[in-house]
Amino acid sequence: MKKLIYLDYASTTPVDKQVLQEMKNYFTIKGIFGNPSSYLHLFGINAKNAVENARINISNIIGSKKEEIIFTSSATESINLAIKGIAFNYLNNKKKNIITSFIEHKAVLETCNFIKKLGVKIIYIKNSRIGKINLNILKKKITDETILVSIMHINNEIGIINDINKIGYICKKKNTLFHVDATQSVGKYSFNLKNMNIDLLSFSAHKFYGPKGIGVLYIKNNKKKINLLPLIHGGEQENSLRSGTLAVHQIVGMSTALKIANSIMEQEKKRITFLKNKLWNGIKNIQGIYLNGNFKDSSPYIINIGFKNIFNKILILEMKNIAISTSSACNSNKHHLSYVLKSLGLNDKLIKSSIRISFGKFTTEKEIDYTVKKLNFIIKQIKKKY
Ligand code: PLP
Repeated sequence: MKKLIYLDYASTTPVDKQVLQEMKNYFTIKGIFGNPSSYLHLFGINAKNAVENARINISNIIGSKKEEIIFTSSATESINLAIKGIAFNYLNNKKKNIITSFIEHKAVLETCNFIKKLGVKIIYIKNSRIGKINLNILKKKITDETILVSIMHINNEIGIINDINKIGYICKKKNTLFHVDATQSVGKYSFNLKNMNIDLLSFSAHKFYGPKGIGVLYIKNNKKKINLLPLIHGGEQENSLRSGTLAVHQIVGMSTALKIANSIMEQEKKRITFLKNKLWNGIKNIQGIYLNGNFKDSSPYIINIGFKNIFNKILILEMKNIAISTSSACNSNKHHLSYVLKSLGLNDKLIKSSIRISFGKFTTEKEIDYTVKKLNFIIKQIKKKY
């Protein structure tokens, strides 16, 4: 098999053909190119209708109200808006704290670092050796001074799933806001936000075969008013929370992508679970292999494994036509080691021997068979060579 095999779907996904086809209707003079805020004429009205239909579709799929959806440029922006938007109400109030975990994506961790400099305390909850948040510790750490808990649903490096229902329940009982980074789960797991104790939820379209550059922040709208300060000021779009002309083509693209992802969600999960098991069964007997995280508590879409005494970058280079990664896309070009794997208790040597393989819609059984063969072969070769 000479063709390139993509096994880095947790980093990004290709745009679905049907999504691209739909998006093409929103660019040129023949299409719907108007500004959705200029709705005194038909060009603007058509654009606004497209945006609002997308908003309704997305909210139906995630079980929210349509006015609870704010369009942003990315999950990163949504996360920034959620955390800073809350924290900016409490600047220099040293008593107030935000609770998060050590294994969040950098979008959360760096935002929290920034907030810390502005005077809000950040408390980190420890995770177990497989990467799950310890709920007893979380319960103890939440106080009357906690303004927000931000915990991810599925970890992007190891695929471990946190129990966001239980965490939401704890936050509700303690009367604190709960933000979920659901970037690795929307489009793969079903949500019914009406019945969940989640106040804020972030995700982006490019993880489920939509375009890059578009994301959502869900903001619960119920009796408990969430006072979020905007980061971007201007034309007061998106309920004044995120100014800027809406990217209609991106929004329609995301909506179409989510609709498709939702329609095949359960069968895809079954298929991918089979492929992940097949991969693991084909390599688990390689001497020195270890699994980061576990199977029981993790998403079928991600597996993180290591091979003792094999440097991951050499392995990835030797795998040539198979695209896999060392950790997350954000870390893989930098020299620092994965803080997620460190928090599982791995030493530096093991971290440098770990790789992430992530599966998606275009992954076939044939590709997995080939990957299994190649991994077995390459590891033998590297052991001989180095
Ligand atoms: N959160 C998680 C868990 C992610 O995996 C990613 C991207 O990899 C992000 C946030 C940031 O998403 P984006 O780059 O689309 O802003």
